[in-house]
Amino acid sequence: MNCLGRFADKVVAVTGGGSGIGEAICHRIASEGGRIALLDLNIEAAERVAAVIRGNGGKADAYRADVTDAAGLATLFDRVVSHTGGLDAAVNSAGIGGPFVPSLEYPLDWWQRTLDINLSGVFYSIRAELPHMIKAGKGNIVNISSVCGIIGQAGTAAYVATKHALIGLTKTLALEYGRQGIRVNAVGPTYIRTPLTLAEIPQEQWAMLDERHATGRCATPEDVAALTAFLASDDSGSVTGSFHLVDGGLTAG
Ligand code: NAD
Repeated sequence: MNCLGRFADKVVAVTGGGSGIGEAICHRIASEGGRIALLDLNIEAAERVAAVIRGNGGKADAYRADVTDAAGLATLFDRVVSHTGGLDAAVNSAGIGGPFVPSLEYPLDWWQRTLDINLSGVFYSIRAELPHMIKAGKGNIVNISSVCGIIGQAGTAAYVATKHALIGLTKTLALEYGRQGIRVNAVGPTYIRTPLTLAEIPQEQWAMLDERHATGRCATPEDVAALTAFLASDDSGSVTGSFHLVDGGLTAG
């Protein structure tokens, strides 16, 4: 454990930190000395990740959070900050996938649920995170969008719409709060084997997905965590309002 790293003495909140990409981001930032506030609907998962971080000599606390609950999030971030003493960075990774169905058959309840979690959930999270950062005169937000933020994907209208919207939201927030010391960026991962995708994409399709990448493979949660840690750190001081792919060249052709 490198406790003298880029995040020494920094507090970083990660929504969706209990699984997949968010989990890898928690481990990466904790390994660089950050104190992690893990927020997840699945409190058992968040507590499991926090316990592993603490077992490795890092600092992490788990909190149950529902990103669709704007008022609850505001109260929760107050609690996180009073417990940890501040909020230097936040990574908004909580999200869902949903069914693969053409738009005319797409279930409206899934449409609404996807918008609530993947889009409104990030907006509500930012509104709970920002006041603490503005008060401190500095802060750093990273939103986990997707490669689907810049391309379409047949059968996933709601998911694609939310991931495109997150890029616009990111740019707008960066413009609004840059002069107050806040940076906001978005990351666009390609297909990654996590519980979200493994539940929806059959095992036999993964080799074909690997082949679609210039690198010959899908990315890993750790690939995304490395870029996210850079964006969430002071190393990326002039980077704001921008979208950064981790797509193995999927969209290069
Ligand atoms: P995952 O299912 O492994 O993790 C998502 C986490 O979000 C879970 O721990 C879940 O409990 C939590 N969550 C869901 N709803 C929530 C809510 N209402 N409030 C709080 N927490 C909630 O998924 P993942 O693959 O790690 O995805 C993380 C993010 O990365 C998502 O935004 C996803 O869209 C994005 N992404 C994933 C991939 C991929 O291929 N896996 C690719 C591009 C982008």
